Amino acid sequence: MTSSTELDTGLPLDMIIFGGMGDLAMRKLLPALYMAYLHGNLPPSTRILSTGRQEFDRSAYLAHVQEHSRSFIAESNFNEQTWNGFLNLLVYVRLDVQQAADFNTLAEASRGGAQRVFYLSTAPSLFITICDKLSEAGLVDRNARVVLEKPLGRDLPSAIDINEAVGRHFAESQIYRIDHYLGKETVQNLMVLRFGNSILEPLWRAPNISSVQITVAEEVGVGSRAGFYDSTGAMRDMVQNHLLQLLCIVAMEPPTSLTPDAVRDEKLKVIRSLRRFRLADIARDTVRGQYGHGVSGNQEVPGYLEESNVPPDSKTETFVALRAHVDTWRWSKVPFYLRTGKRMARRSSKIVVEFANPPFPLFPETPGGVANRLVIELQPEEAIKLQVMAKQPGTGMKMQQVELNLDLQSAFQQRRAEAYERLLIDVVRGRLTHFMRRDELEAAWEWADPIINGWGTLDEKPHSYAAGSWGPAEAFALLARDGFSWIE
Ligand code: NAP
Repeated sequence: MTSSTELDTGLPLDMIIFGGMGDLAMRKLLPALYMAYLHGNLPPSTRILSTGRQEFDRSAYLAHVQEHSRSFIAESNFNEQTWNGFLNLLVYVRLDVQQAADFNTLAEASRGGAQRVFYLSTAPSLFITICDKLSEAGLVDRNARVVLEKPLGRDLPSAIDINEAVGRHFAESQIYRIDHYLGKETVQNLMVLRFGNSILEPLWRAPNISSVQITVAEEVGVGSRAGFYDSTGAMRDMVQNHLLQLLCIVAMEPPTSLTPDAVRDEKLKVIRSLRRFRLADIARDTVRGQYGHGVSGNQEVPGYLEESNVPPDSKTETFVALRAHVDTWRWSKVPFYLRTGKRMARRSSKIVVEFANPPFPLFPETPGGVANRLVIELQPEEAIKLQVMAKQPGTGMKMQQVELNLDLQSAFQQRRAEAYERLLIDVVRGRLTHFMRRDELEAAWEWADPIINGWGTLDEKPHSYAAGSWGPAEAFALLARDGFSWIE
């Protein structure tokens, strides 16, 4: 992983956050920056400029940060003196992105000669105007970088609009499209597991692998995001970005190096190899669901249609399961089952790579056998486990599944950084490998759009599932018909 050669990362850093008073900034970005500061991973003369429309004097702003950010730092990582040092880096700049004059104020607040990172943590509808005005105010130079939060558009045309507009002012090597799943230690570890060892890769293909499952299950409901969510749905919110990125890491060919383009070229090939869905495929191979009333975390919770700000006749999906295919030699006939949903039984994200059964069943006491699986758990804990069959102690030859646990926690007595912290450090150091390139993003929309449009044409209500369950029965039938089942 090399830094971009164009950047001078030795200069003082001004990290400028648009949406600096918003939920993401308070819950994730400032705590991640604090952690980077705590561990000496920010350049010595860093400043963090948070922007927002409200008037705050310095003490009111710092009180807001204290109230809304501090609790997202684990007690074990909190150090009063370091926290105060971190607060000293923060500057609040009142700025309405619609007002060109406010960008002059920003230009005055930002140091001449500093390398600037613009983190756009606002609705994407503001990205174009922000980039235009940054450029007009003379704030974009060759050392500038821009970080774009998801969602990057709602379909291919809107993604192209954003990419074109941002690309007018920033070179592709200055654009960091963030998908925090790519910042997870275990996801990055999957690349090392695959390409840093020689034992897995020869097996990592059809027919040795019989299926791949990727689940991102959330326990929470739509919460206060209903307005945004109802016009988005699970496909745009989760599948088009996070689940596809995970699929890419599982399915990609070995890159020729770890340079950003070498890795992203391989991911792009995977997305381009995804089989396109026609209307008949959509009806057969996709399941949309919407949570109903149920019990979550021992509490009764309302169904999606009863949530505030959700239209009573909404057909927005809060759950998607689908069967995808990567049409390459390596993955011929291997189904990739993707599943995501809100208000599911528990928060759990995992990748399950299921290996084929042995060709001959030698142990009749365990009829049917159980497949070997590599399970990569991403949430709530990160872990990698290889499930293998072992002989049950005692007489006879009965098999039982046991886990070879790759216990990274005890293998490395080292702190594992959160995804946002790791990705922010990558931005600061100019490392693009774990960020999406423009063509990857657009190829992902090219695959997702026909599915979303097909659902529109079919115009069916999503299947209902009880809050606190694993989704609608149809999602189980999707796998059962191929002889598989979801691994919870
Ligand atoms: P949010 O709480 O609504 O914050 C958005 C911020 O945008 C507000 O604080 C607001 O600042 C600012 N803003 C709106 N209009 C503005 C204007 N005209 N000028 C200047 N600032 C303006 O949203 P969020 O949850 O932080 O999410 C931000 C982005 O990240 C969204 O695109 C979201 O989809 C994405 N995202 C969020 C999460 C998450 O966990 N929250 C996760 C992944 C992605 P003021 O009101 O202070 O002006």
